[in-house]
Amino acid sequence: MSIKQNLLNIKSTLPSTVTLVAVSKTKPIPDLMEAYDAGQRIFGENKIQEMADKWEAMPKDIEWHMIGHVQTNKVKFMAQFVSLIHGVDSLKLLEEINKQAKKKNRIIDCLLQIHIAEEETKFGLNEEELNEILSSTTFQEMKNIRIVGLMGMATFTDNQDQIRKEFNHLKSIFDYLAAQPKTQNLEPKTLSMGMSGDYQLAIECGSTMVRIGSSIFGGR
Ligand SMILES: *Cc1c(COP(=O)(O)O)cnc(C)c1O
Repeated sequence: MSIKQNLLNIKSTLPSTVTLVAVSKTKPIPDLMEAYDAGQRIFGENKIQEMADKWEAMPKDIEWHMIGHVQTNKVKFMAQFVSLIHGVDSLKLLEEINKQAKKKNRIIDCLLQIHIAEEETKFGLNEEELNEILSSTTFQEMKNIRIVGLMGMATFTDNQDQIRKEFNHLKSIFDYLAAQPKTQNLEPKTLSMGMSGDYQLAIECGSTMVRIGSSIFGGR
């Protein structure tokens, strides 16, 4: 099936409360343009240089989401245009985003990435580290970032019960965050969870944003 048809099929199954990020990493611009022409305006990339190249080449009404792990020294290459950074998992990274956003006179929206999977290799914070960030004066004084929610990835497994358990865990942390007093830089509303293989389950568990790549653009 075509990219357009894949996209429209998926969109027709998503509740109106759920935002679709079309994950276009490694795919060439004509593939992205096919999705764009079918109405898609939010794209997710996991490498900053690749995202910057695509941003330069493509229409300017696209929202670019960084969904991959971010190296501190590369934040400056996306500060001008990135709409949402999903994978923030340290105060140090947040400080750099704040600094680069300030230079561009912007406020950059960020999601804190929570480690919910069993695998050791996946990035992310635990609840204690999340609380340390939120309670630090360094964070509270930042004026050029805004934490708008959380992101997480489930274990890569066929075990649906386990994935559900991990998504429910992330949702409970999100509910805790959403119950905190809102401030200028803390406005939780987005829960980014679910990919091609598990997005339906993620939505059942309360996801408000799904990151779908291979089911739209084909395998990588
Ligand atoms: C690649 C990627 C996705 C999309 O994965 P698919 O299985 O192709 O849908 C989602 N989230 C992150 C963080 C990714 O790196």
